[in-house]
Amino acid sequence: MAETGHFQEGALVAVLTAEPIGRPLDYRAPEGGCFMGAFVEVPLGPRKVLGVVWGPGEGGYDLARVRGVSRVLDAAPMRDELRQFLLRAGDYTLTPMPAMLRLATRAPGLGDTPGLRKIYRLGQGAPDRMTEARARVLEVMRDHGGPGFVLAELAAMAGCTTQVIKGMVKSGAVIEVDTPRDLPFARLDPDLPGKALAPDQAAAAAHLRAAVRKGAYGTTLLKGVTGSGKTEVYLEAVAECLARGRQALVLLPEIALTAEFLDRVEARFGARPGEWHSGVTQTERRRLWRMAGEGGVGLVVGARSALFLPFRDLGLIVVDEEHDTSYKQEEGVLYNARDMAVLRASLCSASVVLASATPSLETWVNADSGKYTRLDLAARFGVAELPEMRAIDLRTEAQEAGRWISPTLAGEVAARIGRGEQAMLFLNRRGYAPVTVCRACGHQIGCDHCDARMVEHRFLKRLVCHQCGDTKPMPTACPSCQVEGRLAPVGPGVERLAEEVAARFPDARLSVLSSDLFGSARALKEAIGSIAAGGADIIIGTQIVAKGHNFPQLTLVGVIDADLGLQGSDLRAAERTFQLMRQVAGRAGRAEKKGLALLQTHQPDHPVIRAILGGDEEAFWRAEAEERRAQGVPPYGRMAGIILSGPDLQPLFDFGGALARRDGPLRRIGAVLYGPAPAPIARVRGRHRVRMLVKADKAAPLQAALAEWVAQLKPPAKLRVAIDIDPQSFL
Ligand code: ADP
Ligand code: ZN
Repeated sequence: MAETGHFQEGALVAVLTAEPIGRPLDYRAPEGGCFMGAFVEVPLGPRKVLGVVWGPGEGGYDLARVRGVSRVLDAAPMRDELRQFLLRAGDYTLTPMPAMLRLATRAPGLGDTPGLRKIYRLGQGAPDRMTEARARVLEVMRDHGGPGFVLAELAAMAGCTTQVIKGMVKSGAVIEVDTPRDLPFARLDPDLPGKALAPDQAAAAAHLRAAVRKGAYGTTLLKGVTGSGKTEVYLEAVAECLARGRQALVLLPEIALTAEFLDRVEARFGARPGEWHSGVTQTERRRLWRMAGEGGVGLVVGARSALFLPFRDLGLIVVDEEHDTSYKQEEGVLYNARDMAVLRASLCSASVVLASATPSLETWVNADSGKYTRLDLAARFGVAELPEMRAIDLRTEAQEAGRWISPTLAGEVAARIGRGEQAMLFLNRRGYAPVTVCRACGHQIGCDHCDARMVEHRFLKRLVCHQCGDTKPMPTACPSCQVEGRLAPVGPGVERLAEEVAARFPDARLSVLSSDLFGSARALKEAIGSIAAGGADIIIGTQIVAKGHNFPQLTLVGVIDADLGLQGSDLRAAERTFQLMRQVAGRAGRAEKKGLALLQTHQPDHPVIRAILGGDEEAFWRAEAEERRAQGVPPYGRMAGIILSGPDLQPLFDFGGALARRDGPLRRIGAVLYGPAPAPIARVRGRHRVRMLVKADKAAPLQAALAEWVAQLKPPAKLRVAIDIDPQSFL
């Protein structure tokens, strides 16, 4: 390979593909040669697959049998920065490179030539004959400038058939041109003025702008309650980044939030950013992937996998709601997008902004130790304070059977409705009832494939397993004792709570926000918009309401069961409950009206509940950090979960036991192995699950030891071994 990273035609090159083969394979460079990092198509057996030129070929075998690269794709070659990122992220998560490459090429049709599509523009000629329809076509084309129209789009706008338009091409009144599909995105204008910032916002924005200007790696925690203007502030960092000609990436935890966010970007910069998430069409995904590489998109807004786009020059990554658990991918490659954002930024000299009202303990500790800069936005914009928070002690409130709203809470709800304000009842449980029990024999209906109880969904008229998604009709007889008519719901889900609300507040307009009740992100967005506009008096919500939505009329939040998250062995149970409760409470009183948050609990003296109510957040984090330090758990120690799964239970324990007996590589770094033990969710989709847990010192070379340890034994067929570094879930 020459200095330029170019391989001459016929030279041996190693090509990494996304196929599960252990290493890159050798090919010969095609006519015209190819560059290091080039995306190529290579023959593999009878197929052609996508690959990346990964380095010089190794040779050392029958060279006559080496096949040629089929062709070089019309896409910017992978930059060294992305290559390093994939290598380092793969090392960290113990993921083979083909799987890492798959993450970085998750746009269908990358191998297709960027097809041409026909675009229609206004021509010079006059139509041979003028009709009403033709006149409308010309009018629409004169009224709208721009690059031109797609046929169907133009026909719809002019209210005519596509034949009318085609008929106008012959006379030259309309011209038909072929243009490439993957066009650059509209330019965002960083010089448009933002909102006038409050003093603390302005100070934070200046800090972030300076960090971006430096053009070096650095991470900042931007902390402020919901509504304090974090988004407004980090958009200033985006402006600085764009003004410097670099690209920016904003990661959001949830698709439903994206639409609202896109509107804000458009208002701020005069154009919409590139979008990357599962709801985007395939052609748009491909377009964005290519434009990221060519620099044809300035700002990308996306879900966690946007982190693996082949940006040409990424200068800023914002991770909004950085504590959100959805940043951890729990299937396939097990990575945490927040941590990987920091890694990628350090490799491409970019700034990272981690924004949250309730940061993760990891981030809080990194800021506390000075590894990250911390910026605090004090008050909520235009509002003086967080809502008042109080507990409702369920041990002392008389509660009727089958009712979940205490008299105190019901009274407060009624008062809000009387004043024309909104009240929200929060319950983080989808469906009608979490358990269905037979009153004759005590049997609880469970999933046939999982170790989980089926949840009744009355709206769907079915029982649903929240583990695997399997559903079945609600039986009339008990599946165990066959007695008819004795099956009964136990405990509330949001649908059952809605029933209670309808019975107790018959005149109130009720809206239930639960992800499973909406067919699409758009429908959910519409419901949220309607609530914001005052279209509901009482809102019932699961955790989708905890995130960033603005409801100006909302002045009361009632948490139906604040104890829900406190149980469980999860090391982050306290942290999660604290975050969720504060986020939910933050929904109340976002505009001028003062808010109240009421937490129904059986344990008003629990340290977490007291910390939530006490409002001394730093005290909570300090206490929680001390607790973790004492136990040597993250972020003060390191952990890895090992999940064995397979169709039969015994082989899992046999293999786990055999691994445990060979724990030399782990002991050598001072790590301790726990298990094998049945996972709390012992069966999912018919596969049994067994877990092991490895704990090590913070400085221990955990990945290398794990790799050496598991490489000692080959798992039997059908048995899968997944290694989860820094596990978030212990289920
Ligand atoms: P956060 O991201 O912290 O939840 P946002 O940036 O979304 O806060 O701000 C909350 C609301 O206040 C938004 O509607 C935003 O447009 C508005 N806002 C924030 N800062 C300002 C400002 N300086 N001037 C005008 N409106 C602002
Ligand atoms: Zn199931």
